[in-house]
Amino acid sequence: MKQVVVHDGCIGCGACVGIDPEHFDFNEDGLSHPISEENLESDALKSAIESCPVGVIQIEEKEESAE
Ligand code: SF4
Repeated sequence: MKQVVVHDGCIGCGACVGIDPEHFDFNEDGLSHPISEENLESDALKSAIESCPVGVIQIEEKEESAE
């Protein structure tokens, strides 16, 4: 399983939220956070990742909890 991650360093520019509202929204601090783990191959998500001026968005392998 993969997931979208917004690492520390987001400056709240809004690019990802504007380009790909399916995957990103602002939190109460005005910073982006991922809201979906579906459709990770979408062009909008690729564009959002490329458009982030600080490069903090990544698609990463999700650690499965060993329960
Ligand atoms: S594009 Fe990058 S800096 Fe801008 S809101 Fe999204 S994660 Fe934050």
